[in-house]
Amino acid sequence: MKTYDVVIIGAGPGGLTAALYASRANLSVMILDRGIYGGQMNNTAAIENYPGFKSILGPDLSERMYKSSIQFGADFGYGAVQSVEDKGNVKIIHTDDGDYEAKALIIATGSQYKKIGVPGEEELSGRGVSYCAVCDGAFFKDQDVAVVGGGDSAVEEGIYLTQLAKSVTIIHRRDQLRAQKILQDRAFKNKKIKFVWNADVKEITSDDDKVSGVKYVDKETGEEHIVPAKGAFIYVGIQPMTEPFKGLGVLDEDGWINTDEEMHTNIPGIFAVGDVRKKDLRQVATAVGEGGIAGQQAYSYIQDLADSKVTTK
Ligand code: NAP
Repeated sequence: MKTYDVVIIGAGPGGLTAALYASRANLSVMILDRGIYGGQMNNTAAIENYPGFKSILGPDLSERMYKSSIQFGADFGYGAVQSVEDKGNVKIIHTDDGDYEAKALIIATGSQYKKIGVPGEEELSGRGVSYCAVCDGAFFKDQDVAVVGGGDSAVEEGIYLTQLAKSVTIIHRRDQLRAQKILQDRAFKNKKIKFVWNADVKEITSDDDKVSGVKYVDKETGEEHIVPAKGAFIYVGIQPMTEPFKGLGVLDEDGWINTDEEMHTNIPGIFAVGDVRKKDLRQVATAVGEGGIAGQQAYSYIQDLADSKVTTK
């Protein structure tokens, strides 16, 4: 069993900032992630709403944040967390690579893209169906691609794809986008982007085991159509990555984590930050702020434990 003051699960902007604050307060800190540090930032081409940078590539910001987060001695290690046990003043974190014991736990596991759940989506995943334009966009150079969704992700990634693809058709289920106005304006001005409105996506079609198009029913006319496309990028929302915490009692009915303004969950010594929290604005900037608060709160909590102000279960 490896012992730390604070274990942070998830190395996105929230987790990395929590590590910076907690380790700078002289706590021993382990950041666990089942992949590379950076979280969703790694799947983002340009980030232009993080202060200090007019625009920065997601992987570059990840690298900078990681280096900053470990400068005061925080450890970073691989670990796919299976479950967590709350034993009062001690939290046990079970991973596929051993167990950790911590006085405080910060959950920063973020969210993942939802699936639409139509025929062809799963079968053609990796054969033209993708949830990451930055990772897979280059496979569709000078080809026609479709994007399903109407939020920030669909529009932002659709705009990114125009740098590579011949055309990008954004297929949305309503006649108005949900995305921020600035992104909408850019998309409407972009000559490579076409829109299909009021579309109920029914299937991702294939030819020779590869994506050939997106079949939809026009909700107004009831007619069925196919948008020919070699790539289908799905951005229909996000869901929390909270499976390992199901037994803890910190999740709401949809799997998100409620916290107070200081990132405390309903369990003393367990905090949550970033996209995994139940909240409206999911941004790098908000995750960073929450990470700072949680790192500082973990320090205060551990100080209180040392002063025996927190009772043992
Ligand atoms: P989102 O905001 O939840 O948008 C999901 C979109 O998919 C909506 O337009 C929704 O339609 C549509 N949709 C949902 N279920 C569908 C289905 N079954 N079939 C077809 N369409 C469906 O998700 P997101 O765009 O991934 O964004 C997630 C969060 O990250 C948001 O808080 C967003 O602001 C943030 N984000 C921010 C940035 C940025 O600031 N640059 C970039 C990316 C993401 P309706 O509109 O009809 O509901």
